[in-house]
Amino acid sequence: MNKAPPLIDLSQPPPIPELGLSRAVDVMRSGWLHRYGETLGDRSEVSLLEEEFAAYVGAKYCVAVNSCGSSMFLALVCAGVEPGDKVLMNSFTLAPVPGAVAHAKAEHVLVEITSDLVIDLADLECKAVQSGARYLLLSHMRGHSADMTALMELANKLGIVVIEDCAHTMGASWAGTASGRFGKVGCYSLQAYKHINAGEGGLLVTDDPDIAARAILHSGSYMLFDQHRSRPTDDVFARWKGVTPNYSMRMSNLAAAIARPQIGQLRERARVWNDRHDRLAALLARLPGVELPKRPQAEAYVQSSIQFRLRHLTEAALARFLDGCKRRGVYLKWFGSTEPKGYTSLSGQWGYLKDAHTPPATLQVLDRLCDMRIPLDLPPEACVQIVHIVGEELSAASDTADLTSHA
Ligand SMILES: *Cc1c(COP(=O)(O)O)cnc(C)c1O
Repeated sequence: MNKAPPLIDLSQPPPIPELGLSRAVDVMRSGWLHRYGETLGDRSEVSLLEEEFAAYVGAKYCVAVNSCGSSMFLALVCAGVEPGDKVLMNSFTLAPVPGAVAHAKAEHVLVEITSDLVIDLADLECKAVQSGARYLLLSHMRGHSADMTALMELANKLGIVVIEDCAHTMGASWAGTASGRFGKVGCYSLQAYKHINAGEGGLLVTDDPDIAARAILHSGSYMLFDQHRSRPTDDVFARWKGVTPNYSMRMSNLAAAIARPQIGQLRERARVWNDRHDRLAALLARLPGVELPKRPQAEAYVQSSIQFRLRHLTEAALARFLDGCKRRGVYLKWFGSTEPKGYTSLSGQWGYLKDAHTPPATLQVLDRLCDMRIPLDLPPEACVQIVHIVGEELSAASDTADLTSHA
């Protein structure tokens, strides 16, 4: 049994830049951790973050909240989802996405994905027509973008409002347009493992003044919404301020102070992540039986993780493979596990859905899907070592599977 120490900790989140550290200390010294204050004005760290992020993605408005889950919930509610409404969603995503739909008291309509891990547009049309759903919460899961040109054409034809979950696509684009700027609302996460690390946090962007005003009021602005720099005019707030409950989902100035300097680092982070991803992908593609999703030309991805399928392995062989890799420090996540583990789960395991199931085509894809996080500090040479380990464990697991199946 090989007990080599781990090469590298694949779960290492991106570090906070020095400027973030010093601003965080300034905020703590000042005591002004809450984003509002009668005398604070509109230059709080959160307000500046909103303004800077809106400019970064080219949106009219940005509202910062305490998580991406909160931003998706607010996006649904402010876009008009009412209890009992149906919301389409791709069935390959993370639990906060169905959670946001449940939070809005809406009903989930699960849509299949393709073997390239993106929403299946034919099934989207079929489920939209069948269910009559008028909303789509589209998760660009693990950084894979569907053909957004075709998707928006279809959504417009069917009269569907699109909300994008860009937890894994901050900094990415499709045909030159930033991820999150196709739909009515784009939602981003500042959780430690996303592209900007503030520990926790969410950003909602939109060009729609009513959605922005409602999101600001719902997020918990009290009557201090004029302390937002990125906001619609007072007449829009006049329509909503008396009738919008305060859900207290604010971001703190501490999180914003940490996040702000990272916007300027996104381009360099993307370069490093993609370099490591592309090295890993090229090496993995040479291993027998390893299938990687195809990446369309129009997609400018930011891959802070990598996915591959091992269709040729039996379930037992796959379990051995994952175990063997883990023992050697290569921690791979697996979406096909019958028990939800760590961050990963299948839609069939979301028991709060009216009809919890994993759609058949999606199950076939996820059944043998491996997923590896790419830490920013992964040295280029480590890519070779990682794929070497994957290759060795793959052949060992395949051999063992043969033996057990003949036993
Ligand atoms: C992390 C994540 C979210 C939610 O982000 P939080 O900020 O943790 O609420 C949503 N969607 C996907 C795909 C994610 O990975």
